[in-house]
Amino acid sequence: MMKVESALRGKRILVTNDDGIHAPGLKALETIAHSLSDDVWVVAPETEQSAASHSLTIRRPLRIRRFGERRLSVDGTPTDCVVVAVNHILRDQQPGLILSGVNHGGNLAEDVGYSGTVAAAMEGALLGIRAIAFSQLRYGDGPTDFSVAEKFGPDIVRKLYSLAPERDLLFNVNFPPLAPEDVTGVRVARQGRRDDMVGVVEVNDPSGRPYLWIGHWGDDTTREEDTDLAAIQAGAVSVTPLHIDLTHKSSLPLLRECFP
Ligand code: MN
Repeated sequence: MMKVESALRGKRILVTNDDGIHAPGLKALETIAHSLSDDVWVVAPETEQSAASHSLTIRRPLRIRRFGERRLSVDGTPTDCVVVAVNHILRDQQPGLILSGVNHGGNLAEDVGYSGTVAAAMEGALLGIRAIAFSQLRYGDGPTDFSVAEKFGPDIVRKLYSLAPERDLLFNVNFPPLAPEDVTGVRVARQGRRDDMVGVVEVNDPSGRPYLWIGHWGDDTTREEDTDLAAIQAGAVSVTPLHIDLTHKSSLPLLRECFP
């Protein structure tokens, strides 16, 4: 454990998120990062960017605002933040690790494709930097409690950082909506898939005109084993390795027969 811990000491850690520079979950992740290294930088979106996915801002300029010596915002997406941090703010000394989150709400199953939190880690992986996304499932409507993240986060970061680097690999970590003492453990899980999808709800505004909300309001119960959904259902922290290449490799031979 000491050996692994010393691997991070003195390493530069970049912390970002998709909930914005003022989000409580960002503060929780900064605390985790500070427990591992003295060289922690925060570059986070100026405003909330949840479900921004892996978007880049390329049709307007970006501005940086400074909130502290090592605490800055960019008025763009999570991906913009990582790109600006690595190529501009921290260009003289690159981060050795990127932590994204802790997101307010889970990023399980197909959420991964919409998530700005995961996308920031994905950008880190593209840049060849070890990257981990963290999300905390919500307890009803109340403020999100990040004590599970603060209890389990540091050890998860140390262990994932100790693994041999692999091209285009990133990690997606979700914390269950429980008190720390009720968490059943840490489970390695594959990305799941919900039975129901993002939906549309039409309601009327005060003048009687319809408007729409899109989102997912179903529950996350699953019968699929070994998934992130099942791990959370079992009260565990889920750790899922993700990679950037979306190729469905087993379809390649069939496709080559179609297009000889
Ligand atoms: Mn978010």
